[in-house]
Amino acid sequence: SALRETGLVEVPKVSWEDVGGLEDVKLELQETVQYPVEHPEMFEKFGMDPSRGVLFYGPPGCGKTLLAKAIARECKANFISVKGPELLTMWIGESEHNVRDLFDKARQSAPCVLFFDELDSIAVKRGQNVGDAGGTSDRVLNQLLTEMDGINAKKTVFVIGATNRPDILDPALLRPGRLDQLIYIPLPDEPSRLQSFKSCLRRSPVSRRVNLPDLAASTAGFSGADITEICQRACKLAVRDVIQKSTLVGKAVAMAGAEITREHFLGAMK
Ligand code: ATP
Repeated sequence: SALRETGLVEVPKVSWEDVGGLEDVKLELQETVQYPVEHPEMFEKFGMDPSRGVLFYGPPGCGKTLLAKAIARECKANFISVKGPELLTMWIGESEHNVRDLFDKARQSAPCVLFFDELDSIAVKRGQNVGDAGGTSDRVLNQLLTEMDGINAKKTVFVIGATNRPDILDPALLRPGRLDQLIYIPLPDEPSRLQSFKSCLRRSPVSRRVNLPDLAASTAGFSGADITEICQRACKLAVRDVIQKSTLVGKAVAMAGAEITREHFLGAMK
């Protein structure tokens, strides 16, 4: 199926330090995901069913995917990521089959975090999907619900969904035992933006005249993805300068002491 190429199993390399800000969310995730994955027997002892899934919602580019990877790594769990639309095919029955395959793969890879990005594309309220005459979406959602209910606590598969549109999801998906915790991932505030700049530039030579707190202050409304892009563009401008200088003084001299300057950041922001 199409799934063979997507949804590959990996142990992610993203660590908590790679995620800027969101400290309270990290804490919540440790309790909601890490405890059940690492100590399922504790929940049994206390007569509780551990949560099997959470839903991340909020504006794009603010770290939903990054967080899902970081928590998987933190639990030493495998990670499977799939975008909702990748599961949909034009062949009758094949899309549900993809969902089943995906959960099979997750169970075989347990402990495993199964991440559904763009969940709204496969989980809108049933019967409301316009232009879906064959009812594929409804059948895919039903299959998803069946699989979620079939997750055995001992098999430690944890499902994380992500969407920018929680309002259009089928409420059945958010019932207890399914994605029963909604976690809002907001646009970063000023300290979080500073954290994002720092984590993004961790391995980069940055001029001492660059004031990262100022940059954080002047990027209100920017997402983590926007900040990453600013840093990448500034880096490209710095590389451009080094290459130009190389033609004059040679590469070794041009590279020695080269760094990202204020002008590079100003250029990138523009
Ligand atoms: P989408 O809704 O578009 O899928 P998302 O919320 O899943 O977005 P991510 O894919 O996690 O966003 O982030 C995209 C990129 O933006 C990341 O690869 C990272 O480079 C950067 N980024 C976003 N948020 C953060 C953050 N909190 N800390 C550090 N980098 C971030």
